[in-house]
Amino acid sequence: MLLPHQPLQDAAVVPSPRVPARDESGPWHSEAVCRRDEAGLFFAPSKEPTAARLAREEAAKRVCARCPVMVECREHALLQPEPYGVWGGLTAAERRVVLTRRRRREAELQRVARVPAAG
Ligand code: SF4
Repeated sequence: MLLPHQPLQDAAVVPSPRVPARDESGPWHSEAVCRRDEAGLFFAPSKEPTAARLAREEAAKRVCARCPVMVECREHALLQPEPYGVWGGLTAAERRVVLTRRRRREAELQRVARVPAAG
């Protein structure tokens, strides 16, 4: 089964399989806007110039902004994690930032939980 905006061409751009290990995550992908008419915006063709990439990503994000399953899609991409493409309105680089922040926050919460109470 294809995921939303799973590339049908240029498979070499996405070396990892994009079929989720967690199809049990729910039917969100059936409501994906990109499933219907926007395939091709979400993944970089090989050797894409920076300006073209930025324009394509912004166009993909505009599609995501009107997608009813953006939150589910974003969480899917963060949890997998999906290493390529725009998912849930975030680029791969933006998802890495979110994941780094989450890991730091989790580490901080664990550190605080280990500190014995004063007194
Ligand atoms: S949020 Fe964007 S990438 Fe995700 S399903 Fe919707 S349109 Fe596709």
